[in-house]
Parts: sequence; C-alpha cells; structure tokens
Amino acid sequence: MSNLVHSRSSFSSLSSLTVQPLKLHRKPLASTIFTSSSSKTSTLICSSKPNNGRKPMSRKGKKSSYGTSRRSILKKTFTQEHVTFTFPVADDPHVGIIGGGMAGLVCALSLEKIGIKSTVFDTGNHGLGGRMGTRKIDPQPLIFDHAAQFFTVSNPQFAELVDSWLEKGLIRQWQGTIGELEVGGQFVPLPSLPPKYVGVNGMRPLADSLPSQTRMVNVVRPCWISRLEPFNGMWHLSENGKPCGQFDVIVIAHNGKCANRLLASSGLPLIARQMKKLDLSSIWALLAAFEDPLPIPSGAPPFEGAFVKGVDSVSWMGNNSMKLFSKNNSPHCWTIFSTAAFGRRNKVPQENIPSATAEKVKTAMLEGVEAALGIPKSSLQMPYYSRLQLWGAALPTNSPGIPFIFDPHGRAGICGDWLLGSNLESAALSGMALANHIGDFLRSAIGRPEEFAVGLHNEFHPIEGHDIGQFSGLESRANPKELQHLN
Ligand SMILES: Cc1cc2nc3c(=O)[nH]c(=O)nc-3n(C[C@H](O)[C@H](O)[C@H](O)COP(=O)(O)OP(=O)(O)OC[C@H]3O[C@@H](n4cnc5c(N)ncnc54)[C@H](O)[C@@H]3O)c2cc1C
Repeated sequence: MSNLVHSRSSFSSLSSLTVQPLKLHRKPLASTIFTSSSSKTSTLICSSKPNNGRKPMSRKGKKSSYGTSRRSILKKTFTQEHVTFTFPVADDPHVGIIGGGMAGLVCALSLEKIGIKSTVFDTGNHGLGGRMGTRKIDPQPLIFDHAAQFFTVSNPQFAELVDSWLEKGLIRQWQGTIGELEVGGQFVPLPSLPPKYVGVNGMRPLADSLPSQTRMVNVVRPCWISRLEPFNGMWHLSENGKPCGQFDVIVIAHNGKCANRLLASSGLPLIARQMKKLDLSSIWALLAAFEDPLPIPSGAPPFEGAFVKGVDSVSWMGNNSMKLFSKNNSPHCWTIFSTAAFGRRNKVPQENIPSATAEKVKTAMLEGVEAALGIPKSSLQMPYYSRLQLWGAALPTNSPGIPFIFDPHGRAGICGDWLLGSNLESAALSGMALANHIGDFLRSAIGRPEEFAVGLHNEFHPIEGHDIGQFSGLESRANPKELQHLN
C-alpha cells in the first residue's frame, strides 16, 4: 500500500506548480499526484494549473491503448502510475458512470436518491441495458430477449426496487411454466415460487425506462468512453479524443476486455488488477422464429422456458412470444442459449464470426433442441428467421464476493454483477451499494480516504449457478467441477 500514501508536504515539496481553481470552489481545488504502482519509481505530479478550457494532455503523450495486444495491456496494468487526488471535491459533486447496464443505472438512481448528480455513458446503439438486451425485428415484429430472460429476488433492498418497478408497470411476474428439460424430452416443472419477473415489453425497455423520470441523471448514448484522464483534480472522460466532461468521482460499470483496456493506463492500478482477475464465460445465443409451435414432449405441460440438461449445445430455451405476449400463434420466437462449455470450445471473435462457424454452431444448437425435446434428428422445422450471436463476455465464473470495489485515493469505483454473483439482482445490489458508499465518502469531507478503500485486494472464488446465471430458489444441479473447469 506504500504507493498510496502521500503526505501533502511531499506534494508541496515537489510542486513547482501553483494550485489555482478552474472554477469557483469554496474549498481548495483538488490536486492530483501520480505515483508508480511498483515501489521502484517515484512520484510524478499532474499539475493543478488552470488549463484555459483546453482538454487534458495525455500523460507521457501516450496514444490510446485501444487496439493494443493483451500482453501490452497486462504490462501497462502492472506498471502504470497510481493517481492520488488530495484536496476536497466541489460542493456539488458530479459522478461519471461508464456503463448503462443494470449496475450503472441503479448506481445513478441511488446517487440521485442521496442528492448526487451523475452522467451515465453507454455504448448501446439501440438502447441502454447492456446484457438486458431485447431485439425487435421489423416489420412483423419478432421480439427476443437475447440475454437476461427473467430474474428472481432474494434481497430485501432489491425487493423494494422491484416493487417500485411493479407499481410503475415496468415489470410483471412471469406466470408461464418453466422447468428442467432432460435430454430425451423429460420435463420437470420448477415450483411457481419464488416469483419470476420479466420486463413487460422485454428487458431492454425496462432498462431504457429506468432513468426516464430522474432529475439528476444525465444519459449519454451511444458513447464509448475510450479514455480516462485525471487532471486538475477531476477525471476527464473522452471518446476517441472528443471530450465527454469532467467528474469528481468515476464509476466503472462494465467489465471484460473493454474495461481492462480502459483501465490499463488510467492511473488506477489496484482497480485494474482486480478487474483482471475476473473470468468470463462465452455463450452462443440463437434467436429463432418458427411458423409452428415446437413439439412439446408427451406428458409435459406447454412450457415457456426450460433449463436444458444433458445437451452440450443448449443450456436454455425460452419462448418470448408466450412470455411477453401470451401469444400462441405464429411467429413463435424462441431464444436458445448454448452451454458455457460449448461456448468456450467454439469461441471466435464476436465482432467477426466466420460464416462456417456460424453455420456449424446453428446446426449444433438446432440438433441440441431436437435432442432435448426427444424428437428424431432432422425432424425439427427450420426457423424462418434466425440470428446467431456470441456473448463473448457472457457471465462471470468467479467473484470477489463483495458488493463493489472503491479506490478512495483515485476517487473511482467499480460495480457490476460479477462482484456478487451472476445475475441482474447482483448487478443492481452492486450499483446501489457503490452509490451509497460514494455518498458516505463525499460526505466525510474526504478526511481519511484510506478508511473508504474497499475490495482492492480481495481474492476471487468460483461462482456456481446455471450457465445463464443464478436464480435464488431455482438452484442449479450443475456439477461445480464442471464450472471450475471453465476457469
Ligand atoms: C446469455 C445471457 C443470459 C443471461 N440470463 C440471465 C437471466 O435470465 N437472469 C439474470 O438475472 N441474469 C441473466 N444474465 C446475466 C445478466 O444479464 C447480467 O448479470 C447483468 O445484466 C449485468 O449487468 P451489468 O450492469 O453488471 O453489466 P452489463 O449489462 O454488461 O452493462 C455494461 C454496459 O456498459 C457498456 N460499456 C462497456 N464499455 C463501455 C465504455 N467504454 N463506454 C461506455 N459504455 C460501455 C456496455 O455496452 C453495457 O451496456 C444473462 C447474461 C447473459 C450473457
């Protein structure tokens, strides 16, 4: 932790640079100090001079780290300097949240509750939500939830939030039959309790409507934050060189390759190291619209969702037409997910799926549906519409088991599902907890920042659950060894 500790005197003695306000602050303007995360190199100061409206210059004139190799990202992560903000923040702090999935959105809503304004940046071209994706294909239209299917509730704070969504008509209970479908067509319904919830028009509309009635949450979309720079006591965010604003505190509300790259040269090595410990599964999603209903195995009820067991290429199949519209006529829109093991074996770059792989995967997944339903090979009707997608960073397979990570010296935190588990509830609880912690941190006048450090060194442990996440009360019968095998 020595890299974190910097007295004001060491700063003063090094500083030939004057500290002047950028804008009117009643308190002194925050200064920014960089130190190396390795103990060998010494301090570097980032000035607090007024910048006359110019955007921050990049430290060491480094180019964007995007597009660099994994090895170079790793090297940067472990050798980058650590930023330390010293003086108090402005009276009216502004939090920048990078990621508008469940975690980032709930973080913003929870900050508003305690009177703190925020701006949420999200890359989504079609809407907010990240892995709460809903795809609508016109003109018919065909509708598919193509990541999160439904959620359950176990935590009282999440229950409160869910009740408010129910009151506003954003979600409802999914009353349809869900069960486990064993290879060969043996279907076992799951109990109707605990309640299962879905977005009334799909998951993405739920995400899009969350910030709609807020006064202190600003949403910027589509926007891909490609750089974080500490300067003049603030975090400056930019998208490919275009400034996106300056913030007193930042929240990283996304994970995976994108977050690793963003953090690799940010001045937050402790956060970057924790993020790099995260392992994510890969899952193929096949969206398929059928003219006729799928053949339900004899003796089974007409189920709307099934966790598939004993089939390598399929872990879940869900009927969106029934779930969202109780519609039992054509088109029948099904979302079919692969297992994580199948996803890992057939992983390709998700932005550039070779057509041969797409064909192979689609065939294997449709054969998997036949096997699950217990019908002869090649007897399944062909979907008249289909779309294949790879979730290359689908679900966390390990977690530190703490609600968030916060670096008080760098005035930055992370929230997301993976900190607690692998579902929407974990993501929401993580966003909520981080917001409250930021509130406490800001209210404390930042007297003893080290007291607010959370999760910077925690170990990670494997996560158990279904291949598409954890559902309290609907625990998986998956073999934990199989899950460890993914790491
Ligand atoms: C196939 C699949 C099925 C699932 N099924 C279920 C289910 O049935 N039930 C359940 O509870 N959970 C399910 N999950 C898990 C659930 O979707 C996630 O746990 C949850 O959505 C994670 O939310 P998050 O906010 O942590 O992250 P995300 O949803 O990933 O949000 C991160 C956001 O940040 C954005 N972003 C990334 N980089 C940047 C950047 N540089 N600048 C700006 N924005 C950026 C991303 O575009 C994204 O919108 C499923 C997941 C998958 C993949």
